[in-house]
Amino acid sequence: MELRFDCTQCGRCCHDLRLTLSVEEARIWASSGHQVDLLAEGWAWTGAEDLADPAIAWRKATTFPATVGEVPFRINLRLVARHEGPCPHLLPDMRCGNYEARPRICRIYPLQSRPFEAMTPEKRRCPPEAWGQDLPVLQRDGLPADAQTAAILDRHRQAMIDDVPAKARLAATLDFAEAALAGEGLATCEPSPTTLLAALALSEQTQATPRSNWSIVTNRETTRAMLADLDCPVRLVATGYGFLSAFADER
Ligand code: SF4
Ligand code: SF4
Repeated sequence: MELRFDCTQCGRCCHDLRLTLSVEEARIWASSGHQVDLLAEGWAWTGAEDLADPAIAWRKATTFPATVGEVPFRINLRLVARHEGPCPHLLPDMRCGNYEARPRICRIYPLQSRPFEAMTPEKRRCPPEAWGQDLPVLQRDGLPADAQTAAILDRHRQAMIDDVPAKARLAATLDFAEAALAGEGLATCEPSPTTLLAALALSEQTQATPRSNWSIVTNRETTRAMLADLDCPVRLVATGYGFLSAFADER
């Protein structure tokens, strides 16, 4: 099946950003004085997961082991460029002012950056006129039609695996050890660009040891009570205060 697309340069995808970056891209983004957040989510992990399932194998490859209380978990960390309103690199005519150095995630949009998640036009910000049967082929049978874009997508995904140890060291240096339960939301750490750069440098210099004991933040009382019953360290928070939620706050 083919999906046909041509960018209209509407600039919608360059507003209200949360762009997933590699460690190196985060370093460059923060060096320009722009905000980069660290986001965390975790999965309880029994060790009996079926690694023959590619989605489970991907989850394991993009996470590191930890415990929450006595419960084994896997923690995923994401570095994301964040900006309310237009991207600091967006020019008034909606062209990218950082075109040559833009992150890989900008180069592959509107393709789906994460594997095992289908991309549909409805999930993208592109206007209806960007999709049409007379336009170039963007994706064929779920894969990028263009070999160069496919290679960029591969590199983006490989960085999500290769950067796991560096992000774990960074979190330890920032003393950030709270995650959301996967599917419920994301715990957020929002250091200033200067703090992030210093922590990245220090974590590499000292080869900081990743934190093995993590706790959970949630905005749902049901989740808090369930984890407290298991003697897991857990904190009830409101959306927006160190937490991005998938659900409305539940008290
Ligand atoms: S770096 Fe360029 S392409 Fe990426 S969000 Fe900013 S303006 Fe858009
Ligand atoms: S939202 Fe889609 S059509 Fe608009 S600039 Fe971004 S990629 Fe192009």
